[in-house]
Amino acid sequence: MSFWEGEDCEYCGGRIVEKRVDLHRKINGKYVLIENVPAGVCRECGTRYYAANVLKTLEETIHGRRKAQQEVLVPVYAL
Ligand SMILES: [Zn+2]
Repeated sequence: MSFWEGEDCEYCGGRIVEKRVDLHRKINGKYVLIENVPAGVCRECGTRYYAANVLKTLEETIHGRRKAQQEVLVPVYAL
């Protein structure tokens, strides 16, 4: 049973399914790409939802407490 099992989208009421997504964030003027982020995605409108623990990990990742796994044009992180 996934974290998002039985959850409905708060915007359209659609079903939310768990997916791995890539996130782009602009941090201090630089774009970073965070790959493989677990998220709940609405099947109807595509709205993404993130669990609190995922957001915390994202924050830590973005603020440099974890090393980039590889650098291409932007630092690339994977959760
Ligand atoms: Zn929706």
